[in-house]
Amino acid sequence: MNKIEHIGIAVNDLEKSNGIFASIFGEKQYKIEEVKSEGVKTSFFKVGDNKIELLEATNKDSPIAKFIEKKGEGVHHIAFAVDDILAEVQRMKKEGFIVLNETPKKGADNKLVVFLHPKTTNGVLIELCQDAE
Ligand code: ZN
Repeated sequence: MNKIEHIGIAVNDLEKSNGIFASIFGEKQYKIEEVKSEGVKTSFFKVGDNKIELLEATNKDSPIAKFIEKKGEGVHHIAFAVDDILAEVQRMKKEGFIVLNETPKKGADNKLVVFLHPKTTNGVLIELCQDAE
């Protein structure tokens, strides 16, 4: 595992939150992207070497809608960059973690992503991501 790739934050109103986080960071988001398959609209901020992703649900069945319903707005996941996502999936399974999608999905910001169930990771939703070619 290489580094924290980004931290994902679930928000109710992306436009409003883009304003809030632009004020915090002193810089606007560099990208807004909808991931239809996941029912989310995302925006990305650069903070030095780090990235913050804001996620808004685009429908009520979206994982983000369900998260906010249960827990309210806030930190949703931590994403880690990996070199070989398929090898990591096998390693995580062998370690006993629940991999939510064993076949990597196309995520935002040109990444292939896999999620580990928070049940086996102390309540933290962990995203593994690899650059999609
Ligand atoms: Zn993410």
